[in-house]
Amino acid sequence: MTRSCPPLDTLSALADDALTPGIREDVLAHVSACPCCSAKLEDLRALRAAFGSLPPTPLGTDLATVLLPRLIATAHTPDEMPRPPARGPVTRLAGWKDFLRAILVPSAASAAALGLGLQLGAILLAPPTPQPVAQPVMLSAMSLFGSMPPGNLCPRPDACNPTGNPQ
Ligand SMILES: [Zn+2]
Repeated sequence: MTRSCPPLDTLSALADDALTPGIREDVLAHVSACPCCSAKLEDLRALRAAFGSLPPTPLGTDLATVLLPRLIATAHTPDEMPRPPARGPVTRLAGWKDFLRAILVPSAASAAALGLGLQLGAILLAPPTPQPVAQPVMLSAMSLFGSMPPGNLCPRPDACNPTGNPQ
């Protein structure tokens, strides 16, 4: 008896009587001792019986008449079957090129995707850069509305004080 519960597809194969004899007895021994698997197997058998009781649905068209001539037209006789290239020095090198291409291209694409992901993640996780404070800009802009325009001579020292407080 297996200790852990078999996967659902194994139970489904048991319900369909599609397991090999050794596995079948092992799963049956588990199902007889496990109420959970026993309930699942009963559900699968009930489902199988329900599907089996459905009336057969005829297809609107016969696909065999369409597909069979195509398959016959494209079928190769054993003499026409494509053969692997002979293993000479040139083809052996071409085989390595294909092998490296099959390995390097996906690896390079994966490395590029990983690098881009790390870079985007670093951008998202980086602390925000301090923005310049807008207050000096506002103060200098507001000085335009002072009593003395910028660049003029001050008639009194307290008249040109930007805070407006007399010193
Ligand atoms: Zn079980």
